[in-house]
Amino acid sequence: MREPEGFVLALVNTVDPVRPVPDLLVDAEGCRDFLKAWLDTAPEPDDAGAIRAVRDRVRAAALALAEGRSGREVAESLDTLVTRVAFRASVRAGDDAPAVGMAPAPGTEPADRLAAYAVLALADVIEARGAGRLRQCESAPCEEVFVDASKAGQQRFCSKRCATRFHVARHRHRKAGGSG
Ligand SMILES: [Zn+2]
Repeated sequence: MREPEGFVLALVNTVDPVRPVPDLLVDAEGCRDFLKAWLDTAPEPDDAGAIRAVRDRVRAAALALAEGRSGREVAESLDTLVTRVAFRASVRAGDDAPAVGMAPAPGTEPADRLAAYAVLALADVIEARGAGRLRQCESAPCEEVFVDASKAGQQRFCSKRCATRFHVARHRHRKAGGSG
């Protein structure tokens, strides 16, 4: 798995109500494209339901973290995703010291591989950024999950475009005599 942060955000954001295709994992073809692109895994058509179920759990966990709920419930939900996955540790030469990596054991089913990598990637993001840096865009109808990498840590929108839309809408609302 390359780019843990990019991978976990891509997985969580396979659901996006404002995209022409709101769920990229809606069918077997979409699941195959995603797993091939990110994990070099080729799922069978009947894996699609299990793959979406994993995505739904990971998305729910990311949204819970974005809302500041990082307690036992989220941990347990993520834990059940990987309890039956066998992992294999490997060591390779790093830049200045050997680097230890974890990966699902060979032969692991595609949905379990996805679950394993998603949990590893999420752990990586939490360690590197802090759980509080996971956010959901506040510019409805956008539901994009993103990582706030800003220095101040007060980013509310996934993109400049969403920020502009939010402020324009609020301005119009005020002009129309609204109170928000
Ligand atoms: Zn947005």
